[in-house]
Amino acid sequence: MSVIDRYGRPLGSLRISVTDRCNLRCSYCMPEPDYAWLPKDTILSFEEIDTMVGAFTALGVDRVRITGGEPLLRRDLTSLIRVVAARDAVRDLALTTNGVLLAPQALALREAGLQRITVSLDTLDRRRFEAITRFDALDAVLSGIDAAAAAGFASVKIDSVIMKGVNDDELPALIAYGKRVGAEVRFIEYMDVGGATRWSTEAVVSKREMLDALEAHYGAIVPVDETSSAPAVRFRLSDGTVFGIISSTTEPFCHSCDRSRLTADGVWLMCLYARAGTDLRRPLRAGATTEELQRLITAVWTSRADRGAEERLWFDRREPLIPVAALKKDAHLEMHTRGG
Ligand code: SAM
Repeated sequence: MSVIDRYGRPLGSLRISVTDRCNLRCSYCMPEPDYAWLPKDTILSFEEIDTMVGAFTALGVDRVRITGGEPLLRRDLTSLIRVVAARDAVRDLALTTNGVLLAPQALALREAGLQRITVSLDTLDRRRFEAITRFDALDAVLSGIDAAAAAGFASVKIDSVIMKGVNDDELPALIAYGKRVGAEVRFIEYMDVGGATRWSTEAVVSKREMLDALEAHYGAIVPVDETSSAPAVRFRLSDGTVFGIISSTTEPFCHSCDRSRLTADGVWLMCLYARAGTDLRRPLRAGATTEELQRLITAVWTSRADRGAEERLWFDRREPLIPVAALKKDAHLEMHTRGG
């Protein structure tokens, strides 16, 4: 069964944040000195998350991505992976991580049934890594990627947020690194989402600019001929290397977006740009049956008509989506609470 929204978008992919905590402080995501965290007793247990997955898969979700905050900070994550992977309806189970804690966990995650892994890595320069993330952890991330490459995942990807004057000179180096470790690299345009309080139009490197820079370096680049609901548009270099660009800022793809997000405390969001979501924890903890959850999910999705990233294009002067004062009042507005 597939539930369709008002633009004909199916409920296809669910991103589940398992914690709002992170062990990095990336300048484009968590640049502030302090944060308000979700209360511990509101964080969904693995059993509750699995019940949610059951409700969503009954309505057509067949791809699940575990994210955060930093998901590998959640104790015993492999147990959650094991139960979600055991669901036949989950055709694809993936994880997004910053990689800092990945090396010792990669094999266990793979053995528990995790199929694909994406590691966020914005630079290969140690000092630059520390400047972007506020932690000297590049070596740990690179070891994590090596461990993931050795663990036998169906795919390992590297996601890099590209910012003008920060790391936009590293596109070829990141592609070469990805090729070396067998990981497809995807460049992400810097987004003006909640939490990106230092965002400015000037700091964005557009998909067009990335392609121009890469063509100047490699020569002709051809688009990969494919239709997909994946956020990245993929390209091929003349040596066959494939990379992707996620252009949510300058060329959004809301029309084909089938993703929704569940925060660690059970708030369900349609979009990274959404101002509010639907609390599924309360009904679950009040004893709602899976069928009752399904009815609520269906009612919300079928009435959905948002196109968050496309609507941002209407603004003449774009600024960070949410002012710091508002973020401090509601952690659900933060990217690190929503999961990327
Ligand atoms: N901690 C994990 C990680 O680092 O991958 C998962 C959570 S993180 C919020 C998920 C993704 O969101 C990362 O790839 C991160 O680079 C991306 N992200 C965060 N803020 C962003 C922004 N302002 N623009 C574009 N991507 C962003």
